[in-house]
Amino acid sequence: MQEAPGVTRPSDLMRPEVLERPAYAVADAAGLIKLDAMENPFPWPGELEAAWLEALRGVELNRYPDPGGRAVSEAIRAAHGLPEDAGCLLGNGSDELIQILITAVQGSGRPVLSPVPTFVMYEVLARAAGVPFVGVPLASDFDLDAAAMLRALEEHRPALLFLAFPNNPTGRLYDPGLVAELVAANPGITVIDEAYAPFASHSFLPEAGASPGLMVMRTLSKQGLAGLRLGYLAASHDWIDALDRLRLPYNVNALTQRSVLFALEHGAVLERQARLLREQRSRISATLASLPGVRRLVPSEANFILFEVASGRGRSVFESLRASGILIKDVGGGGGVLADHLRVTVGAPHENDAFLGALAEALTAPA
Ligand SMILES: *Cc1c(COP(=O)(O)O)cnc(C)c1O
Repeated sequence: MQEAPGVTRPSDLMRPEVLERPAYAVADAAGLIKLDAMENPFPWPGELEAAWLEALRGVELNRYPDPGGRAVSEAIRAAHGLPEDAGCLLGNGSDELIQILITAVQGSGRPVLSPVPTFVMYEVLARAAGVPFVGVPLASDFDLDAAAMLRALEEHRPALLFLAFPNNPTGRLYDPGLVAELVAANPGITVIDEAYAPFASHSFLPEAGASPGLMVMRTLSKQGLAGLRLGYLAASHDWIDALDRLRLPYNVNALTQRSVLFALEHGAVLERQARLLREQRSRISATLASLPGVRRLVPSEANFILFEVASGRGRSVFESLRASGILIKDVGGGGGVLADHLRVTVGAPHENDAFLGALAEALTAPA
């Protein structure tokens, strides 16, 4: 059929680099043990759930939420010990904060830089905004390549350096001394993304705001509240005031604000769950290390573990696990340094047992 003149297609108005990429894909987990997305496997205990539902009764859905989420910011400040020098910006997940940061520097002509492989949204959101992205390969043990990073900072003078600490999908916590060195050498902003802080042994949060070049980003998603979508950025008051101009009004909805306040009042429950997950992480790691079919195990400070199987077997091991009812993440699809690497989220004890049993079988199956 002849198209009417003037019919406008996406490709007439949108940049090819945006249209080339598929939208963020989420695997169908129906009926499967879900160990693919770093979610906390534990719901709240029954009596707490009842109290939470009661708390939600007070929310007025006919009214706009508190625009800046002041009560939530104050509760986070107290619960997580934000330094006085740091302001706090709330986001609809930390993904939204990454987007705000990139939008903020869009006109600077300077790129976004990150070691790779890492969390994909830094690059996806930079490209969506038309901001160049520079990826600096990690060392072969997935730690930072110090010399390459220092060289890249000098050469590219990024507006933003994103360091996922610990990194996703590797689980590695970079050497804190080296991170401090990069913060000092970076002529732009260093955003330390601490999405996995509840599972890690080091945090830069106490330093947020002390130097204008250092920001710390956190999320409640991996700790057990992924459905609420709440992230926050701790940075100098100057920067928070500036970035706040780019935040959509009412970006954090009223049900989320009330639920986060409730969750922080009962923070000990989430902390207990995080401790249990750290113990499970040790147990899974020990078993993985003993399986002959696991070629490499990356030390993890997050609630997931990255491991490598025999060359060419990554996809078949992933599929065999899925056939056994267990969904993990095949991160090796793009080849390169992640070829044949699989990422498993730490689940509840019985889920981890099911995973380890099915993996041992998948690894001994003929290729
Ligand atoms: C999961 C993840 C996020 C995104 O968190 P949300 O708050 O759910 O948007 C950010 N950074 C890293 C490194 C992550 O792994």
